[in-house]
Formats: sequence, C-alpha cells, structure tokens
Amino acid sequence: MPVFFIERGALQGKTVSLSGPLARHLKGSLRVRPGEHVWLAEAGGPRYEVRITAADHDRLTGQVLSTLPSPPPPLPRITVGLALIKGDGMDWAIQKATELGAEHIVPLVTARTVVRPKAARASQQARRWQNIALEAAQQSMRWDVPAVAEPTSFDAWCAESAATACRLILWEKPGGRSLGDRLRGTPRPASLALAIGPEGGFEPGEVDLAERRGFEAVSLGARILRSESAVLATLAIAQYEWGELG
Ligand code: SAM
Repeated sequence: MPVFFIERGALQGKTVSLSGPLARHLKGSLRVRPGEHVWLAEAGGPRYEVRITAADHDRLTGQVLSTLPSPPPPLPRITVGLALIKGDGMDWAIQKATELGAEHIVPLVTARTVVRPKAARASQQARRWQNIALEAAQQSMRWDVPAVAEPTSFDAWCAESAATACRLILWEKPGGRSLGDRLRGTPRPASLALAIGPEGGFEPGEVDLAERRGFEAVSLGARILRSESAVLATLAIAQYEWGELG
C-alpha cells in the first residue's frame, strides 16, 4: 500500500484534487482509474484512503473514505549535519538519512569542504535534494518528509544545535570513544544531532569548536568510511540502540 504525499491544499473537506507530477504518475505509470482507491497523506499529517472519482487530462479527483491519524514522531528526533560532498554521494546520503529516520538534514560548509555552494544554483539544488528526501520518505513509508536545509556554515550550525539534547561529532581519531559505547545502555534522548565531515574530514580545530558547543566526539572504529557511509552507519547504530531498527 504505497502512500503518496500531497501538497497542502489538495484536500478540501472530503474532496481531493490532484494535478502535476503526482496526477501524471498515478494516471500514467500506475494506470489508476476512477473507482480505484489510493492512499494519500500530507507530510507529517494523517493518511487518507481515497476513492478516485474522476480522471481528466492532467487532474485526478477523489473522495476521502477513511482517515488514519499520524502517530507521534519517533524519538530521538534526529538532525544530520553532513558536510557538503560531491554529487552522487550527497544524493545517496540524503536518501539513506531519510530512510533511517532523520528529521532534518543540514548540508554543512566546513574548512575542508571541496564542494562549495553556488548561489546561482542554490534554489535548484535545494529543490532537488528536497525531492530526493520526499521520494525516499514515500518509499520507506514514513509519515513525514525530512526538511533539507540550505547549506549552513559548520560553526553556525553547531551554535544553532545548542538546544539538542545529545550532540555527537563523528571523528575518526584513533582511540576515540566508540559510538556504540557512548549509546549503549544510556537513556534515549529526545533529540540527537550528528555531525559528519567531508571527504577530507574535519579539522582538529573544528572538533574543538564542536566540543566547546557541547558536541561529543565519537568514533566508528579503525576503518575510515566515506562520508555517506558514515551517515548510514551512524544512523543505523543510533536507531538500533535508541530507535526502532533491528
Ligand atoms: N580523515 C579521513 C581520512 O583519513 O581519509 C577522511 C574523512 S572521512 C572520508 C569522512 C567523514 O566520515 C569524517 O569526517 C567522519 O565524520 C566520518 N567518518 C568516517 N570514518 C569514521 C570513523 N571510523 N570514525 C568516525 N567518523 C568517521
């Protein structure tokens, strides 16, 4: 039962009116016809079972038959601060962070970030990343869609994260405290911020700054992972210890 996210405003009372890419996908790829039922949802809101009542050129209309209220958001509420990395790695990391429950994804500009945000492409890139998050949220049957922020400087993001209950910076320094040891047996926090560096890693001064801002440095062990792999591994471990994975 796939659930498709609809724009706010598509639902008026018990009537749903769909147009644009979703209408084309349902009509074209999925061959949805009047009389058939689909499941729709507004991101973070209830799910609606809808019977399609009309299919025009590029519009579908339906009636809500039943409503499933959304559950409370799972804890911890996770923010991933990921240094900007090259092309496909960033896309892949956003997709995996979404599948593994991140609520916010913040592309970070750090000292060794190779990929620098280009103002002229910022809004197009933001839309593309947000769409990757939406599709991954739909595929993984999430009730919400993570928000992908505009690229943010590392120190500004560390400061903005001050209210987050648990803040961890992934630091591959040999002999560092392992992530598993930090999480195992400790109470699940209400919120968690994870900082992951770029291809060239964090500078020691950045780790010091993060620690002054209340971040704890933790290690994933002796193997050095790619940034995007570190996103997946860190979230999997955090969700295994504190969430609902595994
Ligand atoms: N300094 C690394 C090197 O020597 O090649 C490059 C950084 S690594 C490719 C990218 C990021 O993934 C790091 O900044 C860190 O946040 C995370 N990471 C990768 N392996 C890690 C590990 N074993 N422990 C903690 N973090 C790790």
